[in-house]
Order: sequence, then structure tokens, then C-alpha cells
Amino acid sequence: MTINERICTNVATEPISSALLANSREAAQNIADLFSRCKDDNLREGLFYVDNRQKVTYWNRTAEMITGIRSKQMLDQKWTPNLIDLRDRYGTLIKNNQCPVDIAMRTSEPTLVAASVTGRGGRKVAIDIHAIPVLDHEGQLYGAVVLFHDLSTQVDLEQQVLTLYAHATRDQLTGLANRTHFERTLAARVAEVQESGVNCSLIVTDIDFFKTINDDFGHHIGDQALMSFAKLVQQNTQVDDVVGRFGGEEFMVLCPEQDIDQAASRAEEIRKVLESTPLAVLNGKCLTASFGVSQINNTDSATSAFVKADQALLKAKETGRNKVVVYGNESSTTSSSAATPPLEDVSFNANWNLLKGTILACEELSTSSSIDMVLEKVKGFVVDFKAEIVTAQDQHLQMRIDKLPHEKSRRWGDRVAQLIVDFELRSTQQVKSDVATLIRVTIRPRRLRDRRRNNLPDRAEAVMREIRGYLMISHRNETEQRTIRPTNPDARY
Ligand code: GH3
Ligand code: MG
Ligand code: MG
Repeated sequence: MTINERICTNVATEPISSALLANSREAAQNIADLFSRCKDDNLREGLFYVDNRQKVTYWNRTAEMITGIRSKQMLDQKWTPNLIDLRDRYGTLIKNNQCPVDIAMRTSEPTLVAASVTGRGGRKVAIDIHAIPVLDHEGQLYGAVVLFHDLSTQVDLEQQVLTLYAHATRDQLTGLANRTHFERTLAARVAEVQESGVNCSLIVTDIDFFKTINDDFGHHIGDQALMSFAKLVQQNTQVDDVVGRFGGEEFMVLCPEQDIDQAASRAEEIRKVLESTPLAVLNGKCLTASFGVSQINNTDSATSAFVKADQALLKAKETGRNKVVVYGNESSTTSSSAATPPLEDVSFNANWNLLKGTILACEELSTSSSIDMVLEKVKGFVVDFKAEIVTAQDQHLQMRIDKLPHEKSRRWGDRVAQLIVDFELRSTQQVKSDVATLIRVTIRPRRLRDRRRNNLPDRAEAVMREIRGYLMISHRNETEQRTIRPTNPDARY
């Protein structure tokens, strides 16, 4: 709807007779009358009328609200931009001859400018001001209708949207892409590789022995070191690269149009810069990091792309740290004989692959107690360990454990790595008379990013010990236990 239409729809329906326009003085008076009959209470625009003597003859309620100036103060005042402290977008007071009202009346052309006024309580309000000259058939000027629109809510909204966007996509500490945003970008790039076969590689990096940085310097300095680290990585990547924080002290770099060799040399450059850049916050100490690199191929999903780079990173950790390991070429950079599954075996069944390497403990226990009895004992464990039940169905019980009963945070802000414990129960009476129930217990970290925390295996072992205790408490001799760590927890009973 145009501004003219808007005015018309707010005016009482009685038609304007041609006699109203008989002469300019009479017309001016009649226009003022016409405005006084305007049903503009709900108009969101400030609206005023300036007659051909430049007097303000109408000032609506919204104009009062925006400027804080009452109608009775404005009526009959000679219009100047000073009246409402009308300023241009740079904050400079608008002079009379630059005022849209004046220009519209001089040129007989509608004039629109972005400006600001001082509103109630001295608040600066951004506005659009639109002056429309009113002319008769012969072009004689009667005055100008002026509309102005409060943009501050819109400006605030735009600001809020920008802030929200930054919150949703940026990591608060480092300003890099956060994990969600990174994963979205990765998925888009994977789709691109699948569609058009372009090159794209992924680097995953994890700071070496970062825990000792926190231990030696404190968490606050640890945070600053993370910021410096992020900056160094960012500075040593290319404009098109997307650098993200996966969580904790793990970062990722997505390298569009880079094959694996290019990405590997990029990682090597970053690694060298890191090991030779003393950080002021660490009193001149340098950080080092380990890197895993993979190239995304056209059969990859975002998950498998990540898993490949992560497996290479694990290898870099296992074989001495501060090194770059390329997925598919681990043997050339490692002398380790650690038994990781052959990488070709990875079938990218998402969850299991992500879990692979994260199972901390898995044991199969058996007891002559019935399933109901076992469940009673598990209940006792749940209560004592303040475990939270995640799922309980089909003889499968999953729970989350935060802190172990005697565990204390080392310092304020230390995050405890939560553990997920799965119990799978099967009644075996038909199979073997002295064994009533088989129980498989699997323990893993809740968050993937905690999988390399140093104390996790000990914590998992402590939990497993407790579980054995709870289940065996009155049947010590009946329970046979077999440690099968790690095992394939995919094979359900
Ligand atoms: P590794 O070489 O095996 O990676 O050893 P690490 O010590 O770096 O690994 P670990 O996973 O055991 O410890 C990571 C530490 O990073 C533990 C945690 O306290 C610390 N950390 C994670 N996020 C933050 C953070 O936002 N700020 C600080 N200051 N520390 C963090
Ligand atoms: Mg680390
Ligand atoms: Mg880590």
C-alpha cells in the first residue's frame, strides 16, 4: 500500500468536494479539517502536515509518541528540522534547506531520507522521513504531508538477528566456527564432493598434553592459550578454509579444493608454526598439537569423513604426538604396533564407527540370580551412584553417570567427563542350569570429545569394579567374569 493510499484509507469516507480547493487559504484550512478527521490512531507512522506558510497544522498521536512532543506544542509552530532535532544518518543536524519537508515543498517532489530524531527521554530514534507535497490541479502548493517511521525496533531486530547468528555459529571463547556450524558446513561440502567430485580435505587437530597447561597455569590462562592457539591456526589457513572448534582443545579445518597432499602440507605448516611460536600467556612456552588428515571422497558421509581424520589423529597421538598423520598412509609416519582395526574395515555405520575406540570397558558377567534380582541390584547401584536412566527397554538399560561418589572436581569449572553405562540382560536358564542371567556391561564416555581424557579408563574401571561388587555381593562364587575389552558392543544378546 502506498503512503497516499494509507492516508486515504485512514480518512473518513466523506468525499473531498471540489469547492474545498477553491482557493489556497480555504484549502489549507480544509486540509487541516480533513486531517482532524483522520482516523489515524492506529497508524504506525508519525504523521504531520505543514501548510504553505510552513506552519505545522496537524501532528498525530504517533508523532507525539516517537518525538515525545505533544500536538499542542507543535501546532502553529513554524516548521524547522530543529523542532524535532532531525539529524542525518551521521548524526549531523539537518539544515533547513536540506530538510526533506523543505525540499518537497520547493521542488514539488516527494522526498524520502533516513534520519534520526531525539525521542522521549533523550533517546535517539532512527527514522525514515517522507515528505509529500500537496498541490492543486494547477500545481499550486498547499503544503506537505509528512510521514515518519520509527526504525529503531527494526534496527534492534537486525542487531539481534546478527547477535543470534553469531551465537548460533561461533564458538564463544575462540570466535571460530562452533561445532554445529562446522558440521553443517562439512555436510554441505561432502554433498558437493558427491555431486561434482571436487577435492576437499579435512584436518582434525588436538592440542598435546593440554591438561598439564591447565594444571600448571590454571584454567583461565588455559582459556587464553586456547584463544592464542585458535588465532595461530586461523592465521595459517586460507580464506576459503573453515576453521572450527570441535570442543575442548580439539579443532578442525575444512580445506575446500585441497587434495590430501595439499591439506597434509597445510597441517604440517600449522604444526611447525605452533611448535615454534612462544605464547606470551604461557610465559613463552610453545604449544604443540597432533593432526589427522583425510580427503573426502564421493562415498563419504560427513561422519565418515570425520572418522577417517580422527583415526589418523588417534594414530598421531599414539605414536608420539606433535605430528601429522594422513589417513590411509599411517604406516609411513608411525612405528607403533598398536592394534587399531585396519582402516579399510571401516564400514561407516555411523554410531558404531564413532564409538569405535571409545569403549572404555566391556565385560560379560553371569550369575545364578534371576533377571528380576539382578535388576534390583542394579537399582541399588543407580541410587548410590546418582545415575540417570537414559533408556530402559527390552532388557536393555542405559544410564548416565556424572561423578563417582568420592570424586571431587579438581578446581572450579573442571568438567567431569560423563560416562554412559549399558546393561544388557539375558535369561539363560534353558541353556545352563547354574547360570540364570547373562549381563553385558559396556562403559563409554558420553561425549565423543572426552574420549581421549587421560583418567577415563581408570574411572571406567572403577565403575566396572563397583558394578561387579553390586551384582556379586551375595553371590561372589557364582559369578564368573570375563573381561573382553575392547569388544564389539554391536552384537546384542
Ligand atoms: P593429549 O595429548 O592426549 O590430547 O592430552 P590432553 O591433556 O590434551 O588430553 P585430555 O583430553 O586428557 O585433556 C584435555 C584437557 O583440556 C582437559 C580439559 O580440562 C581441558 N579443556 C577442555 N576444554 C577446555 C576449555 O575450554 N578451557 C580450558 N582451560 N581447558 C579446557
Ligand atoms: Mg589434547
Ligand atoms: Mg582432546
